[in-house]
Amino acid sequence: MTALDELHGRIRVCMNCPLGQPESETFHRVPGEGPADAHVMIVGEAPGAEEERTGRPFIGRSGNLLTEILTAAGLDRSRIFVTSVCKCRPPQNRTPKRTEMAACLPWLTAQIELIKPEVVLTVGNVGTQTLLGVKTGINTLRGRFHELKLGGRTMTLRPLFHPAYLLRNPRRVPGSPWDMMLHDLIEVRELLEQN
Ligand code: URA
Repeated sequence: MTALDELHGRIRVCMNCPLGQPESETFHRVPGEGPADAHVMIVGEAPGAEEERTGRPFIGRSGNLLTEILTAAGLDRSRIFVTSVCKCRPPQNRTPKRTEMAACLPWLTAQIELIKPEVVLTVGNVGTQTLLGVKTGINTLRGRFHELKLGGRTMTLRPLFHPAYLLRNPRRVPGSPWDMMLHDLIEVRELLEQN
């Protein structure tokens, strides 16, 4: 068993906050999935209904759109480690509370320290603000690379829109959220190609 498998085993039984108290028989915590040596990590907000039912990250409508836009930018999702700040689904998909994020953050930090990605892609405000330690919104932070210092390493962080935002704004015309996110991801692919 790898150190990452062992970590995920501990996440699957975590009771560090009230979100870890199962209310349904189909409740699963969602540690994340992807290669243990991935060069890229995607960090979302928290699992939704499909993710909770299956224990797998980003597999509902948002997840399908995420896979689609990664592919359109020339990035292969199967080579990316995909996870979220919170590993459990908040009731009615509400935004996780500050206390819930604080309780869950050590798991994400441990994942980043084990996987050692070059680039972290945060999708949406929660992942971006949590990892950058700022309150600025995604509209201001996206469109450029940021530095992420964690566990004695410096990585590149690229904030992106959350795919759920693209689902709410489905037009794929110049200047649309899809178009902006596609350009962000193309710049990420170009950065990876340089390294
Ligand atoms: N949204 C997230 O942030 N994470 C998931 O796994 C699914 C939807």
